[in-house]
Amino acid sequence: MSTFDSARLIAMFEAVATRIETEKDHLCALDGHIGDADHGIAMAQGFNAVRAAVTDLDPGAVAPSDVFNTAAKAFLNAVGASSGPLYATAYMRAGAALKGKEVATEDDMAQAFQAMAQGIEDRGKAVVGEKTMVDAWRPSADALAEAREGGASLAIALQAASTAAAKGAEATADMIAGKGRSSRLGERARGHVDPGAASAAIIIEVMAESLSGAGGPGAP
Ligand code: ADP
Ligand code: MG
Repeated sequence: MSTFDSARLIAMFEAVATRIETEKDHLCALDGHIGDADHGIAMAQGFNAVRAAVTDLDPGAVAPSDVFNTAAKAFLNAVGASSGPLYATAYMRAGAALKGKEVATEDDMAQAFQAMAQGIEDRGKAVVGEKTMVDAWRPSADALAEAREGGASLAIALQAASTAAAKGAEATADMIAGKGRSSRLGERARGHVDPGAASAAIIIEVMAESLSGAGGPGAP
C-alpha cells in the first residue's frame, strides 16, 4: 500500500502546475467560446503561485494538511476569477480531511479527494448538469469511491476517477449552463465544452498519474 508524505504532495502540485501551463492557451480558447477567455490564464496563475508556495515549504517539517492549506491560500490570493475560491475551498477541505496526519494513507487520500469535490460543490452551489467543473469532479469522486468500495488500490481508483472526469467534461458540450458566466448564453453555450470542467479533468488526470507511482516505506 502506498503512503503519501508532504514531499509527494508537493511533487503532485508541481506536476499539476507544469501541465496546466502547457494547457493554458487551450483553456483560454475554451473560455473564449462561452466565457471571457481567461480561464487558462487564471488556472496557470493559480497553480504557478501554488507551485512557488509549496516548493518553499520544508517537506520534512510540514504535514500533508499544511501542503494543501498552503496551496489553498496561494490559489485564492493569485486568482480573481470564479475558479479562485472554488479550488481554494477544495484544497482547504483536503487539508482539513488530512488534519493531524504525518503521512496520508490511501484511505486518507481517497477521503481528501471526496472532500475536494464536496468543497467545490458547497462553494459553487452547482450540481451535475449545470455545465461547470462539478460535471467533472462529481462523477470522478463517485467513480473513485465506487472503485475503493470494490477493493481497488488508490492508483486503480484514481485511474477510474480520471476516466470519469474526462467523460464528465466531454458531456458538458451537450449542456446549457446553469451557473457562472456562461449561464447568460442560454442555448448558445451548447456545443462547447465547459473550460472549468476541462481543466478539472486535466488536474485529476495529473493527480492520478502523480499519486499512482510507487511510494511510501520500502518503495524504490
Ligand atoms: P470567470 O468565469 O470568473 O472568468 P474562470 O474563467 O476562471 O472564471 O472559470 C470559469 C469556470 O468556473 C467555468 O467554466 C465553470 O466550470 C466554473 N464555475 C463558474 N461558476 C461555478 C459555480 N458556481 N460552481 C462550480 N463551478 C463554477
Ligand atoms: Mg473566465
